[in-house]
Amino acid sequence: MTSVGYDNEQGQDSGGDPRTAELAHRLGLVRQRMESAVHVAGRTDSPRLIVVTKFHPAADVRRLVALGVTDVGENRDQEAAAKSAELTHVDVKWHFIGQLQSNKAKSVAKYASSVQSIDRVAVVDALAKAIAREKDATGRSDLDCFIQVSLDDDAGAHRGGANPSDVEVLAGKIESAEGLRLAGLMAVAPLGADPNAAFEKLAGISQALCAVHPAATGISAGMSQDLEAAVKFGATHLRIGSDILGSRPAVG
Ligand SMILES: *Cc1c(COP(=O)(O)O)cnc(C)c1O
Repeated sequence: MTSVGYDNEQGQDSGGDPRTAELAHRLGLVRQRMESAVHVAGRTDSPRLIVVTKFHPAADVRRLVALGVTDVGENRDQEAAAKSAELTHVDVKWHFIGQLQSNKAKSVAKYASSVQSIDRVAVVDALAKAIAREKDATGRSDLDCFIQVSLDDDAGAHRGGANPSDVEVLAGKIESAEGLRLAGLMAVAPLGADPNAAFEKLAGISQALCAVHPAATGISAGMSQDLEAAVKFGATHLRIGSDILGSRPAVG
């Protein structure tokens, strides 16, 4: 957790807007944490930073892009559709990271460059259909697909995701669908558990997936609280929200 009080060293980027200065400061701290985690892990590659902007306005996405952010994450279609529509001319990739209802696939296909929360065959089918339609209409590129896998040991699975034993069926489905690209796996560390153990388990599931699907090397893991553990166990994508944007307003 970062403290709220800070010295603004990135003032030159803020154009005098205090919110931009705050975002610049917090973004800088997260980038430093990433850099040092990469160093500690002895990695030569750096994970991609997806800034999770859910509950925060489109104006913040615009500020983040001005600060060099290239990827943002959203977990609700209604909110993401509205923001991306407001920012059609802003060069940023939208990643869908929330529970997806099949009937929202058509909407998501209009703006998402990846869906990271694929957890069942019905969603794959819906996305394949929606992307095919969107490709015909607009020539959009293929959708990057991450299978969300549950790392919970008990059947509770309250943080979502497919059972590890169902990953291969989903992977085969995605790979055989035109317009969908199997990118890899996504997971959220179980609440209250050691993120190191969780992400080590994820790395093992990823290894098994890559043995069959060599291009599916993506591992989307790591949030504000546990990015260091995720980097240690090979995350290629981090999804960081509150440590950059501040706490989310209590809505709905
Ligand atoms: C909200 C969310 C995040 C970001 O979490 P923070 O703790 O705010 O960094 C990452 N992944 C998913 C799936 C989320 O819903």
